[in-house]
Amino acid sequence: MRITIFGTGYVGLVTGTCLADAGHDVLCVDVDPAKVEALNQGQVPIYEPGLAPMVARNRQEGRLSFTTDAEAGVAFGSLQFIAVGTPPDEDGSADLRYVLAVAATIGRHLDDYKLVINKSTVPVGTVDKVRAAIAAELQQRGRDIEFDVCSNPEFLKEGAAIEDFTRGARIVVGTESGRVRELMRECYGPYNWNHDKLIFMDPRSAELTKYAANAMLATKISFMNEMANLAERLDADIEHVRLGIGSDPRIGYHFIYPGCGYGGSCFPKDVQALARTARDVGYDAHILTAVDAVNQRQKASLYDKLAAAFDGDLAGRTVAVWGLAFKPNTDDMREAPSRVLMEAVWAAGGKIRAYDPEASRECRRLYGDRPDLEVVAHRHEALEGADALVICTEWKEFRVADFATIKSALTTPVIVDGRNLYEPEAVRKAGLLYFAVGRGNRV
Ligand code: NAD
Repeated sequence: MRITIFGTGYVGLVTGTCLADAGHDVLCVDVDPAKVEALNQGQVPIYEPGLAPMVARNRQEGRLSFTTDAEAGVAFGSLQFIAVGTPPDEDGSADLRYVLAVAATIGRHLDDYKLVINKSTVPVGTVDKVRAAIAAELQQRGRDIEFDVCSNPEFLKEGAAIEDFTRGARIVVGTESGRVRELMRECYGPYNWNHDKLIFMDPRSAELTKYAANAMLATKISFMNEMANLAERLDADIEHVRLGIGSDPRIGYHFIYPGCGYGGSCFPKDVQALARTARDVGYDAHILTAVDAVNQRQKASLYDKLAAAFDGDLAGRTVAVWGLAFKPNTDDMREAPSRVLMEAVWAAGGKIRAYDPEASRECRRLYGDRPDLEVVAHRHEALEGADALVICTEWKEFRVADFATIKSALTTPVIVDGRNLYEPEAVRKAGLLYFAVGRGNRV
């Protein structure tokens, strides 16, 4: 099939590349000329395991190309995916500006039947808005051309995006049309081999499914963080509690790790957007607002623990940070707990020496050349001259640490661990003060 993808971010680029890899002909359109130019020169602007060689292979075989020419994009694909960003608006609702801009572009250039597939995470009812935006453009042109719009939310995780796209648990499609169902079956056929993963439903339910999935996952995290905060105050160890409850198959071990809060481009904005949608229909979504509030408090807890270890005074202190990305295996720092920590340290007059295996460039892009930030190339370099170490991301390379080296490098022996990477006894035996999440010792 000939497929056009609007948006070459994490979702659009992975979708386009995986569909090309399965044999489709894919043209990706983005409004960012620098991104398109980089991709056309074989550079992949984001870090996602396995993506760069897959992009290269499919470009070489002529099945994957990139352009800023939206008109050419509309002409190219019989399927038109919308995979642009839906950032939060000022009131927490999803900003549909980019999605509707693509819809208008499609309407402006449509010449024959196309199926428009919305992959961005959007509020319930957006399929209707996209349809209306296309129809309005067609009306203005005095054209009557048939088209369909369906919902196809994306469930991939950054850091495992290719695996999730190609071997995901389900492919949700929101449509009432038999023709659309057939086209979507054909599109996803190569990744629907082992068993039928396509779940068809009406568009509104499909749109809500995406928000419900993210809200449920965010709820698991905030619930565990709430339990961890209780454990801290009750002298219990949340890691024992985690194993104790995870053993019940109704609960399970997945996704119940306590930590320093969830970040990224999805959970925070999606939980807030769903709460906002609820308010709009006159329903107070208590769980959603609590999940968000707990998360914001949890992100702030890294700084609170650090500050308490220094009697509230971090002025002139240097803090080593291990991990900047919001989770391992990505360079994405959107809504990352590390940012809340670093900004609080700066506001208190402290300095940061940070290390991340992939997010250095992104950190420099976000914060520029500040005199109170040094991004270094090795985790041990971050410790040089630092007063304390804070761990924000559970990269694999942090899981084993030489505590003697850490102790001798730090001017004060303080580790604040936002990911519970180490056994408290082992760290304390090395003479370090160790403040993890829900593991018994409050500062
Ligand atoms: P992103 O910000 O990484 O990428 C969006 C891209 O769209 C950018 O490259 C931008 O330049 C481009 N764009 C904006 N307007 C455009 C236009 N008019 N025409 C063409 N391109 C345009 O976003 P993302 O992380 O890929 O997310 C995209 C959507 O998918 C969002 O709704 C998000 O909530 C959802 N989603 C994201 C993830 C994830 O893990 N990142 C997972 C599932 C769903």
